[in-house]
Amino acid sequence: MSPHELLTAHFRIDASHLKALKKLGILSVGDLLSHLPARYEDISDVQSVGGLEKGQDTVVYGQLSGLKTRKAWKSKIPIAEGYIEDGSAKMKVMWFNQPYLAKMYRDGMYVKLAGKVAGGAGKLYLSNPEVEPLDALPIDRHDSIFKGTERTDDTLYPVYRETKGVTSKWFYHTVLKCFEKGVLDRLTDPIPAALLKKYNLPELRTALVWIHSPKKAEHAQSARKRFAFEEVFYIQVQKAQERAAVSAATTYTIKATADKTAAFTNHFPFPLTAAQARAIVSIHTDFAGNHAMSRLLEGDVGSGKTAVAATTAYTVATARPPEGLDKKLQFGNLQVAYMAPTEILAKQHFESFIQYFKHLPIAIGLITGSGCMKFPSKSDPEKPTAISKAQLLKWVKNGEIPILIGTHALIYKSVEFKHLAYVIIDEQHRFGTDQRKKLAKKDARLPHLLSMTATPIPRTLALTIYGDLDITLLDEMPKGRKPVITTIIGPGEEQKMYDHVQSELHRGRQAYVICPRIDEPDPDKDLAVQSKSVIAEAARLKKEVFKKWRIAALHGKMTPKEKDAIMADFAAHRVDILVATSVVEVGVSVANATNIIIEGAERFGLSQLHQLRGRVVRGTHQPYCFAVTASKSDKTKERLRALATAKNGFELAEHDLTFRGAGELYGGKQSGLSDLGMEAIKNLRLVEAARTEARHLVASHPDLARAFPLIAEHVARLGEVLHME
Ligand code: ADP
Ligand code: MG
Repeated sequence: MSPHELLTAHFRIDASHLKALKKLGILSVGDLLSHLPARYEDISDVQSVGGLEKGQDTVVYGQLSGLKTRKAWKSKIPIAEGYIEDGSAKMKVMWFNQPYLAKMYRDGMYVKLAGKVAGGAGKLYLSNPEVEPLDALPIDRHDSIFKGTERTDDTLYPVYRETKGVTSKWFYHTVLKCFEKGVLDRLTDPIPAALLKKYNLPELRTALVWIHSPKKAEHAQSARKRFAFEEVFYIQVQKAQERAAVSAATTYTIKATADKTAAFTNHFPFPLTAAQARAIVSIHTDFAGNHAMSRLLEGDVGSGKTAVAATTAYTVATARPPEGLDKKLQFGNLQVAYMAPTEILAKQHFESFIQYFKHLPIAIGLITGSGCMKFPSKSDPEKPTAISKAQLLKWVKNGEIPILIGTHALIYKSVEFKHLAYVIIDEQHRFGTDQRKKLAKKDARLPHLLSMTATPIPRTLALTIYGDLDITLLDEMPKGRKPVITTIIGPGEEQKMYDHVQSELHRGRQAYVICPRIDEPDPDKDLAVQSKSVIAEAARLKKEVFKKWRIAALHGKMTPKEKDAIMADFAAHRVDILVATSVVEVGVSVANATNIIIEGAERFGLSQLHQLRGRVVRGTHQPYCFAVTASKSDKTKERLRALATAKNGFELAEHDLTFRGAGELYGGKQSGLSDLGMEAIKNLRLVEAARTEARHLVASHPDLARAFPLIAEHVARLGEVLHME
């Protein structure tokens, strides 16, 4: 059997089953082998129902049946009862004083029960067991299909991520059959043996056996470590290749001087923080080298990333292209493109840049889906003016506009620069070398890249998904900022929050109210636990809570024009309370808004909550954040409490990673990693080792595809996933 063969060539699989497998991306034998178990069920302590004796504490797996409620004969205690059956026998189960249990579970459900065996001879029953519903039964020793396999000592059974119609049992059984048919002999390990040896990782064949049918927990662990290493390694190889490609490309070498920089920053109405000054020096050092910069600037909301962007943009926009590049130079300076994720943000950056540049004869353009602007206007040198897109494009193409700010409209084909030397990206998690080249268009030179984010990312994850970038942290807030006072509001505690916000409104402040939804019902939940929606909550607050205040709603389904109008009203204090979805999360800045109420806080990751409350850390007034949760769970409250105590966003990001997984860090957006990869991200040493080895491999084998075709193949496949936008 070869790993490339289709499963259908060896197994009889019916149409619905096949469809379910396809959904999981499993077609070939190889696909099946790489579908790794999500976890293991240790059933060494599991007993068969048939062998139970009175008085025993026990754990059994089985199927429920005959569920009903009744009252006890004498005491009239309400009882829920039913049966548990596991293939060896059927036994009665009784829950006293918990009649609702019979309604919570269904006949035919697979469960794990942990409880005590009670009753008399011949009338044994399981008393008040704890119930854990299961998607399917783990492979159990009473099942006929596993009878007769020689593995009698096994207690660890793999549990696979399942899809309707494909059970763990099927996966396990089919994988074992593939092993029997000799598929392992046909596999070649893509990872060099020396590397495996160095990190004490099992070879591919051993690892597959260990991960799918471990005899010991350590074996499973060791195999998982190998596959995790492998996944991170491929990503790192890809990143190392991107780095190498960037290094090989020619770029613009730009010299900054301390005097010139100081002359620019001295116009700021504030001194730079030490972290901002350091970031500027790092970027200038990169500019002065021969390779295009690839740098990530990471800093909490309000840490002053825009000032860093403006200062370094100034350096570029005042630099001349290299001699001989253009003989008929008219407006001959290098150019900057600054790309924002939304129209509101692009406009806000444009306005900030105008403040930073207003004393200088440097033109700044704005391009978004709904129009173009240019600063300064011919008639009023203090103000921007609307211009046609054709006019803007012409001035960008001939170099007259050295700084162009915009949304994605920036990378449309029609936008051509004369000498694009610097690309700044705000809150775009992935911006590949290809996109960067596309922006530069015909220009053979690769522009320097600064990617800015307020998303706090744990170091391991940054090293992985931003493995091709150098990282600079703005880990210091400007002086005089008051930290947010964060309060967790549980059920029934809303009034004191409303009273507080009310008093702040009376002081002339404004407030945000963030809701998890716009208006449609939440498909995940039944109606009783529906989360609050922007539209309904705005109406309710107006009617019941903030009657005399001006309330507006803002959400992602509005047109950019509508959103802008509302943001403008809020910024000008024509609106007191802005009820919004988390679209306000990225970047929008209104200094007078110092209160934020976050409804359904348990639905957000901590780092996302941290970003949301960053909205109110702008001004000099004391900011307040209220994280409202309907959840009664202590765990949820404890998790939210970390918001109040954490020193910074990074700490919260680490917290998210540990407790909720890497997917959480982008507010649910996929990071491109598998479940196992996410697990790996928790291990700094593993990530660092994979990175070191990948860089070494790429540096020592420029022709990787020839030297290590299997690795190259894996990396190519990865590219498809990770570059998806
Ligand atoms: P970020 O983009 O990191 O969220 P901004 O660059 O928008 O932050 O800065 C937030 C606010 O802080 C702006 O109003 C800006 O003028 C101000 N600011 C930036 N740097 C400093 C500083 N060093 N000291 C005081 N205020 C600053
Ligand atoms: Mg910003």
